[in-house]
Amino acid sequence: ALQTLGLSRHYGAVSAAEGVSLSLAPGETLALLGPSGSGKSTVLRMIAGLERPDAGSVSVAGRDVTRLPPEARCLGLVFQDYALFPHLDVMGNVAYGPRRRGANQVQAQQQAREALDLVGLADLAARRIGALSGGQQQRVALARALAPHPPLLLLDEPLSNLDEQLRARLRTELRALFDMLGTAVLIVTHDQREALALAGQVALMRAGRVVQIGAAAGVFGQPATAWVAEFLGQPN
Ligand code: ATP
Ligand code: MG
Repeated sequence: ALQTLGLSRHYGAVSAAEGVSLSLAPGETLALLGPSGSGKSTVLRMIAGLERPDAGSVSVAGRDVTRLPPEARCLGLVFQDYALFPHLDVMGNVAYGPRRRGANQVQAQQQAREALDLVGLADLAARRIGALSGGQQQRVALARALAPHPPLLLLDEPLSNLDEQLRARLRTELRALFDMLGTAVLIVTHDQREALALAGQVALMRAGRVVQIGAAAGVFGQPATAWVAEFLGQPN
């Protein structure tokens, strides 16, 4: 579903990403972990096409998309600053993706309603975006990304503004949905429980580089370096 080869990006003297190669089969989930500033969002933005890499390539579903604009890449995004469309209501935001993909109004609203149900916002479909709480907006962003059923989802801290109860429920329901749809997911999270619950694979980033990657149980059970052991050992 996804392959990146040697993705690199510098900002002035800062190497935000250096030779990042990741590969995800359909239906697989990879959690990207690492300290603040280690390059996780930079990698996601390059895969999404929102940031141009200095070097390296991105393929989605076997197609080289390195030079394609974001909207031609067939992926769903939830970013740290989930930019919703302020001039549309909740339903308008969530039905937007399916509409763009050619669904008619009835189909698009049906897919949007399913996604809103999943995130527990079915009752707020007609609400203005400006009249939602932060956590509700985050859930609208998640529903908006899920509604078109993209083959690849990029999630940057998708549950960070939610309370623990809601997070726990969404972890379980998202896992079931991804399994059912065969969605490949790349998720950035600071929550190791979230990584373990959602992801079969884990990659650890430090200063722009992937320092360990593998099955989640293996990475958590056998950190490759003292640095990884210390990072994973910190409470979060
Ligand atoms: P966090 O966990 O805090 O979200 P992150 O791992 O997502 O961190 P990035 O946002 O990818 O980190 O940033 C990686 C590095 O690149 C940081 O040193 C950051 O300051 C720098 N950086 C990111 N975007 C820019 C930019 N547009 N201009 C200059 N430097 C940037
Ligand atoms: Mg980030």
